[in-house]
Amino acid sequence: MNILILENKPDSEQDRVLRQKAKAIKDINSEIRQLALAMVDTMHRDRGVGLAGPQVGQLKRIFVTHAEGDESRVFINPSIIWTSQNEINYEEGCLSLPGLWADIKRPESIKIQAWNEKGRAFTLEASGILARVIQHEYDHLEGILFIDRVNEVKREKLLVKLEKRAARPEKRKKAADFGMGAG
Ligand SMILES: [Zn+2]
Repeated sequence: MNILILENKPDSEQDRVLRQKAKAIKDINSEIRQLALAMVDTMHRDRGVGLAGPQVGQLKRIFVTHAEGDESRVFINPSIIWTSQNEINYEEGCLSLPGLWADIKRPESIKIQAWNEKGRAFTLEASGILARVIQHEYDHLEGILFIDRVNEVKREKLLVKLEKRAARPEKRKKAADFGMGAG
């Protein structure tokens, strides 16, 4: 699968998809199972720790994760039902924003409800890296990118860097690796 890269251009179709709110999945059927598997393969191929539907052009409420030391997980129609008061800073990157990194503050622990690719409902309590990746991917379903969570000055600097990199594709090496991979 191709991963959409933010172009930061007003008429960019990729930007439009990355910025749109994803829609709930009505039927967890074989097509959705195949999509989930293809997303896990793409995430591993690009050494990411997470990937969301909009990043592969699917405006569906699905994301996959593979945090370090954890297993691959599929989240369909997820809802974050609790977040800790305690927040921590952590450096994030994103496969749709290659080469950009920034410290982002988010709740340290969360509780999420979702369905897996077999159509089974589950509730998961997560903290640390997994909680971080889940919140980053959940944002993608809302059309939010991590650069939206830094201040205006920092965001402008990051977008200039993104445009410079886009102008020199030969320099763009496989993104990944924020701490332990981009999402
Ligand atoms: Zn991302």
